[in-house]
Amino acid sequence: SRATTKESPNLGRLIVLTGPSGVGKGTLMRSLLQRHPELYYSVSVTTRSPRPGEIDGKSYYFISRTKFEQLIPEGEFLEWAEFAGNYYGTPREAVLNQINSGKLVVLEIELEGARQIRASFPSALSIFILPPSFEELEKRIRSRGQDSEDAIARRLHRAQEEIKAADEFDIQIVNDDFKTALNDIEAAVFG
Ligand code: 5GP
Repeated sequence: SRATTKESPNLGRLIVLTGPSGVGKGTLMRSLLQRHPELYYSVSVTTRSPRPGEIDGKSYYFISRTKFEQLIPEGEFLEWAEFAGNYYGTPREAVLNQINSGKLVVLEIELEGARQIRASFPSALSIFILPPSFEELEKRIRSRGQDSEDAIARRLHRAQEEIKAADEFDIQIVNDDFKTALNDIEAAVFG
């Protein structure tokens, strides 16, 4: 007969990478994944339009607002938030399956979502990425050159608010020198 399911003694863990838009957490995350292919990166769902070069199912799953609003009450998301006029959410089932199979799962999400994860997964490791200064952050957001003036303004306003929340998280890392920040994240995750 089939053995009863026991909780794995080797439980996986959630790693939450958060911080304001433009701080470089996406780039840090991709570099971390290159160094550690054993990490599972959760691809988010969004209602934002794809930027040039973004691939559906790799960068994000791009869906309509109507569809996203259907998925919320169906419990499809581990966390979700509205950011700069669009919805973003983490697919629940894929992430839980990975954790249960012992994987380290990395989420790269904004503040509200990161707070939700901290509330429902107290054992999650949460890392807040800070810019060297607000001026530098503004420069980075503008130099991306892919967002409208309106979207930039909303992101800057939100960034100012988000930075105030840095202390809520386990670890704060300043993304001044990229390599140093990456090494700091690596040390936090792998001890
Ligand atoms: P962007 O539009 O620049 O790709 O992302 C905007 C913000 O949404 C970033 O701070 C990004 O980390 C965050 N984000 C991406 N995916 C998710 C998600 O699944 N949930 C939440 N709460 N935020 C997300």
